[in-house]
This record gives sequence, structure tokens and C-alpha cells, in this order.
Amino acid sequence: MHITVENLLKIKEKVKAKFDLNKNSIKLPEIIAVSKTFKINHILPVIDQGHIHYGENKVQEAAEKWTNLKKENKNIKLHLIGRLQTNKVKLALSLFDYIHSLDSKKLADKIFNIQQQLNLKTKLFIQVNIGNEDQKSGISKNDVHDFYNYCKSLKLDVIGLMCIPPFNEDTKKYFEEMDVLNEKLNLDELSMGMSSDYLEAIENNATFVRIGSSIFGQRS
Ligand SMILES: *Cc1c(COP(=O)(O)O)cnc(C)c1O
Repeated sequence: MHITVENLLKIKEKVKAKFDLNKNSIKLPEIIAVSKTFKINHILPVIDQGHIHYGENKVQEAAEKWTNLKKENKNIKLHLIGRLQTNKVKLALSLFDYIHSLDSKKLADKIFNIQQQLNLKTKLFIQVNIGNEDQKSGISKNDVHDFYNYCKSLKLDVIGLMCIPPFNEDTKKYFEEMDVLNEKLNLDELSMGMSSDYLEAIENNATFVRIGSSIFGQRS
């Protein structure tokens, strides 16, 4: 068995075990295999094993890697987990099934416009700058409610919140805050948790965890 598949199966077991311990959780969290920077050959064993969800952080790189793969594997779901510039929205919407980085009114407007042209509705997460970091994008905690209402007024398909907590910090308190925010908005999905902290994220009701290096290895 390819090492990436072994890694994924181990993580699946841990996710399931953690999920079973959490009495509040409703559905088994999905694992997004974050394949950014890795070549197709390295990803293929995981695809062949039947895994569904994949994450990329750059639109161009994703288009080059996934356009054909998605045609050949119709059940693959592709997630954009990196920043989306308005000039890439058209390409992004035609390629990705989920966008985790909705972070401004300008982007919401653009998505609204392009979706009308393309006649589709992509599932969206609002990215929250939960640590209030200057260098990170995302809607600030206090503005999330208003921003969500704005997205609703455009009839965007916002399914949940997403965050990337500050590095090198105990992420638990941020995950707890995200869980409360998500609950307040009555959203079904919550995208948080990476290789280092996905089990804590699941304790706080994450429904999508985004895991890269623990599946595919260190990125160069
Ligand atoms: C790269 C990335 C991940 C995966 O990180 P790992 O530590 O490799 O699991 C998750 N989320 C986002 C937004 C990323 O950019």
C-alpha cells in the first residue's frame, strides 16, 4: 500500500474514534486531503483508493492539476482553501466545489455576478480572522454576523465558517470561539483543523478538517 494511503487510513481511524467520543457531534467529519505543491503522481494512489475531498490553495496550480482528473473521477470534490482574488473567480467557480476563503464584500459581489453568468452555486465558507492577525485575511469576529447577512442578501450558498488560527499557539480557545460563532449563525459546516490540531478541532465540532503534510509528507 502506498504510504499516502496508509497515512490517510490511519487519520480516518483517529477521526472516527474522536468523533465517537464527542457526544455533541452529528456527522462524521470529512477529511480534505490538502494536495497543494504535490504532483499528480503523488496524489493518484489516494484518488485510486476512492478518497473524495481534496484541497488546493492556488487557483492556477489547481486548474493545471485537477481539470482532467475531475473529468475522469466525477465524484471528486475540490476545495479552494487559499486566498481568492477577484480576477480568478470565474476559473475558481468552474473548478472548485467548495471555496473556504470568502473574506470580503468585494469578493462576495464578484461571486454573485459570475455565478449568475455560469448558472451555478458553489458552496462557500466565510473565512474568519479568529486571532485578529494583521497579516491574515478573513472577516473579523465582530463583523461576521453582518457579513453573513450580506451574503444571504445575495443568496450565496454559505454553508459554514472557516479559520486558520495563529501559529504556535494553543488553538483550542480559537476552535471553541469558532464553534460558538457557527452555532449562533446556525450554520451546518465548520472548516478547521490541520495536521497538527485536527483532533482538537473535531472536539469542537469541526465538520471538515484540512490535512496536508500528515497524508502527503512535508512540503518542500
Ligand atoms: C496547507 C494548508 C492546510 C494543511 O496544512 P498541514 O499542516 O500540511 O496539514 C490546511 N489549511 C490551509 C488553509 C492550508 O493552507
